[in-house]
Amino acid sequence: MAEEQDARTYKKRRCEMVEQLRRYGINNSRVLDAFLSVERHLFFDLKDRDYAYDDCAFPIGCGQTISQPFTVAYMTSMLVERCSGGKVLEIGTGSGYQAAILDCIGYSVYTVERIPELFERSSGIFSLLGLNIRQRLGDGTLGWSDHAPYNGIIVTAGAPEPPHTLLAQLAGGGVMVIPVGNSAGQRMTVMTCRGGTFGREEFHTFVFVPLVGKEGWRDG
Ligand code: SAM
Repeated sequence: MAEEQDARTYKKRRCEMVEQLRRYGINNSRVLDAFLSVERHLFFDLKDRDYAYDDCAFPIGCGQTISQPFTVAYMTSMLVERCSGGKVLEIGTGSGYQAAILDCIGYSVYTVERIPELFERSSGIFSLLGLNIRQRLGDGTLGWSDHAPYNGIIVTAGAPEPPHTLLAQLAGGGVMVIPVGNSAGQRMTVMTCRGGTFGREEFHTFVFVPLVGKEGWRDG
């Protein structure tokens, strides 16, 4: 009974979250439907679940965060509007929520995380939810060449510049959505692979944790 009550409460909070995303200008129905379906509270520790539907980033341990719902919706919209399906590589699995949203939209999802504790935590959540999301532990600035090329790449940590090795793993016509800048803020950047060259567009400013790795920021 208590579980049914909880499920109803969380569903109501998801509807409110989606209404708020609409007010903030997110209007892609595939994105909004995924936000209604994916149970965001399951990506939070039990003690923190009351905060799961607030529109803010939240700590997930190891100095990392689950991104604010608006940020996840914004990045996902940028991807969906330019790449309607196929294979997507996410860099920065974190809680696993963004990967689950991409899976719900219908992409074939690959995700890389560099911190072992977060890799294990998200892996547990994916198996609990029965999600077929392929995961790797390692430096995502080098991508995941075994499964390349990707129709889309989404980087959920702030980079000094789009990593060359990752760009090389995009399929022709593929897009990369990546926040680029320094610790003061990063412009959401979309790189589009056109034959041998890349188109570059820049949008709003966000603040992400750093992308740490060989083609990112140095550790520490
Ligand atoms: N997408 C995540 C979610 O839905 O919860 C949020 C990501 S959090 C803002 C950024 C993540 O990127 C952190 O988990 C961090 O450990 C990871 N990260 C940073 N540099 C990385 C790298 N080179 N390779 C893989 N993951 C990296």
